[in-house]
Amino acid sequence: MSYKYYMPTKIVFGQDCIQEYSGLFSAYGKKAMIVSGKHSSKTNGSQEDVTRALEKQNIEYIIFDKVMSHPTTNCCYDGAKIAKEVGIDFIVAIGGGSPMDAAKAIALLAKQEISQKQLLQGEFEHRALPVIAVPTTAGTGSEVTQYAILTNDLIESKTGVASEVIFPKIAFVDPKYMRDLSVEITINTAIDALSHAIEGILSVRSSVLSDTLAQESIELFSRCIQSLGEAKARNSIGVFNDTIRDMLAKCSTLAGMVIAQTGTTVVHAMGYSLTYFKAIDHGRANGLLLAQYLELVNEKEPELVDKILHPMGLKTIQAFRELMNTLLGEPETVTIEEIERFSEKAVNTGNMNNCRVRPTQEEVVNMFKVTFK
Ligand code: NAP
Ligand code: FE
Repeated sequence: MSYKYYMPTKIVFGQDCIQEYSGLFSAYGKKAMIVSGKHSSKTNGSQEDVTRALEKQNIEYIIFDKVMSHPTTNCCYDGAKIAKEVGIDFIVAIGGGSPMDAAKAIALLAKQEISQKQLLQGEFEHRALPVIAVPTTAGTGSEVTQYAILTNDLIESKTGVASEVIFPKIAFVDPKYMRDLSVEITINTAIDALSHAIEGILSVRSSVLSDTLAQESIELFSRCIQSLGEAKARNSIGVFNDTIRDMLAKCSTLAGMVIAQTGTTVVHAMGYSLTYFKAIDHGRANGLLLAQYLELVNEKEPELVDKILHPMGLKTIQAFRELMNTLLGEPETVTIEEIERFSEKAVNTGNMNNCRVRPTQEEVVNMFKVTFK
């Protein structure tokens, strides 16, 4: 069977990597726009490292720090308006998946006049400002993907805008920015990364290359399980030493490289409604649903489940379920009416085409029911 692998982002990984490789910024122009959330980049040192590196290269910059979690298209249009007015050459995205995704959309919108509908339906020219990404959570892998996941009020869900031109040119991955991430965000984002690796293995677009990355990512996650559990039990980030932060960051970037090839599956599709309507965090939503999808896959292609449980050091799906329960705690309440509505939305997403084991709508309803019983 044929397959392709494409991931053009230059990855620079390690402590103080921005200072060490600050010369890399100069290839992208003389005027940058830093895109971030409101607070965290100012306290975790990432914004300061970026501005210092830009100053060292005599690059002017402006800061657009208005990106909220689960970014709206309006926020991206606001950023693009400023980028055009100022005549920006490139964007430096700092933050979790939200600022990185917003930055990619801004990069597209700064280069062309398109409506919200055209943006969300992928009807645009494949031209964009260059984006350099500095992740400060370890979860989405957005620093190495061609996706910008935006809140889509037109269909009351989240939509992935995809284009090879929005692959970041460079990903500066420095785990030191993640040192103060809360227990909850650390766990939820780590489970988002795990979900990417798992869904990559369960995708029709998987290959030996993506599976190799996915299994390494899963193994890295498994080496952090004990610390994640202890942090949850004690409600303290004290156990997350630099080695753990380093492994979680690698786990996330590798898993991002996986979904850049494979896309995500029904798990993400189901999770989008939980986030949009119930404000359940993205990684948490995936984590709550994963065990039930593994059960379904196990009925039809059990060898795929082995490929996932083995690198996790787990023997059964029940053990996987218990692990997710320990890390995530009690699921939220979701009504039968909500389940029917979310299931219909999920089966109408493009993610369904990625599923090697493609659930029917009835099976999706059942997965929701068992998870949120
Ligand atoms: P996020 O929404 O980017 O950030 C969540 C929170 O974490 C924010 O309050 C943020 O604060 C804070 N934060 C970020 N870095 C921090 C740090 N180092 N220390 C302390 N706090 C920090 O969360 P995320 O889970 O990384 O991203 C979720 C989004 O990514 C969703 O919209 C999801 O759909 C998307 N996603 C995209 C892809 C892709 O391939 N593009 C893949 C999976 C998920 P500030 O706002 O102050 O920065
Ligand atoms: Fe995700």
